[in-house]
Amino acid sequence: MKSIAIIGAGMAGARACISLRANGYAGAITLLGEEDLLPYDRPPLSKASITQEGEPQPVWLLDETIARELKVDVRKGVAAIAISQGEKAVALSNGSSVTYDKLLIATGARPRTLSIAGGEHALTLRTHDDAIELRKRFAVGSSIIIIGGGFIGLELASSAAKRGCHVTVVEAQPRILMRGVPEAIARIVHARHEQAGVAVLTGVGLSHLTKAAVHLEDGRVLAADTIIAGIGAAPETTLAAMAGLAIDNGIACDQHMRTSSPDIYAAGDCASFIHVRLGNRRMRLEAWRSAQDQATTAAENMLGLARQHSSVPWFWSDQYELSLQIAGVPEMGPVTVARKPNEQTIILFHLASDGALMGASGIGPGNAIARDIKLAEMMIAKGLKPLVDVLADPGQQLKSLLKG
Ligand code: FAD
Ligand code: NAP
Repeated sequence: MKSIAIIGAGMAGARACISLRANGYAGAITLLGEEDLLPYDRPPLSKASITQEGEPQPVWLLDETIARELKVDVRKGVAAIAISQGEKAVALSNGSSVTYDKLLIATGARPRTLSIAGGEHALTLRTHDDAIELRKRFAVGSSIIIIGGGFIGLELASSAAKRGCHVTVVEAQPRILMRGVPEAIARIVHARHEQAGVAVLTGVGLSHLTKAAVHLEDGRVLAADTIIAGIGAAPETTLAAMAGLAIDNGIACDQHMRTSSPDIYAAGDCASFIHVRLGNRRMRLEAWRSAQDQATTAAENMLGLARQHSSVPWFWSDQYELSLQIAGVPEMGPVTVARKPNEQTIILFHLASDGALMGASGIGPGNAIARDIKLAEMMIAKGLKPLVDVLADPGQQLKSLLKG
């Protein structure tokens, strides 16, 4: 094979370059990114980029030196605008094109926008430029209204509160973190925000926005210096759909991260895939480590290594001193067992009716839960049915359960 092209220079695109070289691929790699920057890390954008002094600086995933060492031809500031499967070529926004033997699509996701009247007044956060704009606006005493009590909304609320802003979060659902985060953990997050002075309004919809106010459905009007929407992200599938690839909640891949076209793969936020270890379910994950893991699987398969994607989903969120982590898929485990090492720390284990561990979710200060969630992740990967008494007793080492 002589050439691999990658569309999208984010986490999945960068990781694929590293993985291709680590597996001995010596041919050409062209990495196409529509942003004007080399691949950088997104998680800091809602956290350190806002809380640290000075203008946010990108945290590089693939800097000039590494790109040169890996012999990756990085084309910044150029968008892929069409894929021709027949010619095995990608047309670019600058009028040129790139041919490929294998292609990886790693186009990520884009923020959903509010469709109500005045929705254009709400800013969103996805890119380094977005973070620069928000950081400028988060001055001491300014009023920040955040629509959406998901991860972006809550991480930004925590960062804005740390900067001395007056923050309100508006969530339409009856509670924050409604999807994917168990209620017991969401309650701890909610309480911590209120302790920091953030007003968290749940179960209330929006009427409309103006430049300086959020009008709620119940008639309340909230004055705002800045309005931000953190209402979810949509997979960036436009190019793939135009090229005729199957789409199913993202670019539809099989268990090898291969799309409906044999020489085209996809990875990261834009892709859905079949998870062989978790009930052969089709899933799409919007998380940092998942993007890395999927890119690694896709890279290995582009080189003919026949790998099934089977890594256990995992993600984290940092808010204030609290770290929340989730491994596996909690919704797949209807039986919940709680472990409470101390007042501020809780870990929930989510077991299937046959006792198999399907997910673990936890929250606590600093690193308090990291080790137990890691051990739970290893148990999920092994398909273990751990002893409930040991899970529930913080005095007993979870490590003992790994023996099977
Ligand atoms: P992206 O990182 O979005 O990269 C896709 C790239 O493709 C973009 O640069 C885009 O411009 C480019 N692109 C799109 N279309 C084209 C085209 N046609 N031509 C060329 N280039 C194109 N996850 C966690 O697990 N924990 C966290 O704490 C966490 N925090 C986050 C905080 C923020 C503010 C955000 C936005 C995300 C966070 N995430 C977190 C999620 C994580 O960053 C993403 O899951 C990850 O970045 C996905 O990587 P990706 O490569 O699939 O997509
Ligand atoms: P998200 O986690 O999906 O949360 C969006 C939230 O907004 C949901 O609670 C959603 O409720 C709510 N919402 C939707 N429409 C609304 C409306 N009209 N009014 C009020 N609330 C509304 O998405 P996100 O926080 O926007 O994050 C965007 C992307 O960044 C995702 O890919 C996310 O994974 C990523 N990210 C991840 C992390 C992390 O993992 N730590 C941190 C930051 C960002 P419904 O459930 O009803 O839709």
